[in-house]
Amino acid sequence: MRRLLILGGTAEARVLAEAAAVNLADRLEVITSWAGRTGRAPDVAGGVRVGGFGGASGLAEYLRAESINLVIDATHPFAETVSEHAHDACVTAGVARLQLIRPAWELPPSGKWLEVADMATAVNTVGNSASRAFLTTGKQTVSAFAGVENVWFLVRLIDPPSEPLSLENFEVTTGRPPYDLESEKALMIEHQIDTLVSKSSGGALPAKIVAAFDLGLSIVLVSPPPPPPGARASSVDEVMTWVQMQL
Ligand code: NAP
Repeated sequence: MRRLLILGGTAEARVLAEAAAVNLADRLEVITSWAGRTGRAPDVAGGVRVGGFGGASGLAEYLRAESINLVIDATHPFAETVSEHAHDACVTAGVARLQLIRPAWELPPSGKWLEVADMATAVNTVGNSASRAFLTTGKQTVSAFAGVENVWFLVRLIDPPSEPLSLENFEVTTGRPPYDLESEKALMIEHQIDTLVSKSSGGALPAKIVAAFDLGLSIVLVSPPPPPPGARASSVDEVMTWVQMQL
C-alpha cells in the first residue's frame, strides 16, 4: 500500500481526497493535512491530520516517519509558505510532489477590474479610488488596510474576529464559501458597495466576482505569488492521472 499526503485547506483538496480514497482504495492510503486555522473540524474522505508540521524540516521528518510516497500540494494559491516548505521537504526526503494550481480567471476586458501585483498596491488603489469597499481577502490581510481612513469597509471573514480590527470605518460579515449570486448582489446593494477587493485565486469564478460585474462595480484583484518550482496539474482529474502513474 502506497501513502499519499494531500496538503489541503481548499475545496479541491476535499474533492481530490474523495476521488483518491474511493477510486484507489486498494492501492493507496490517503491522508489530508489541514492547517487548522478555522473553527470547523475537517470533513474529508480518508485520513486527516491537523496543524503545522514545524517548517520544512518538520514536514520532511513527517514524510519519513509516516512513510509517505507522494505529496499533492493542493493548498490555496496564496498559501505561499506551506508550498515553499512542501517543495523543500520533498526534495530533502526524496518524495515525489505535484502542485495543483488552479487556472487563472479569464475576465472580460470591458469590466471595471484591475489586477495589481500585491496587497500593498491594492491598499493604495482602494485608498485612491473607493468609497465603500467590500474586503474579501481574508483576516490576515485586513491590517494592511488600516491606514485607509477615507473608505468604509464591509469585511468578510469566515469566523468572527477574535480581536478588534485595525480599521477606522467598517462592519464585519461572516460566512463560508461558496456563496450564491443573488445573496452576493443583495449584500453589495444593501451596503452600497462601489469596490470589491479580492485575491485573484483562480479556479471556478466565484459569485462575488460575477455579482460585482453585473452591478458594474470596480474590482481590485491581487495577483497570487509565483508558485515554487516543480510538476504542476490544473485539475483534480490531472492530479488523479499523475497519482495513478506513480503507483
Ligand atoms: P501559509 O502562510 O502558506 O502557511 C503558514 C503555516 O501554516 C505553514 O508554515 C504551516 O505551518 C501551516 N500550514 C499551512 N497549510 C497547512 C496544511 N495544509 N497542513 C498543515 N500545516 C499547514 O498558509 P496560509 O495562507 O496561512 O493558509 C493556511 C491554510 O488555509 C492553507 O492550508 C491554505 O490552503 C488555506 N487557505 C488559505 C487561503 C489564503 O488566502 N491564504 C485561502 C483559503 C484557504 P508549519 O510551518 O508549522 O508546517
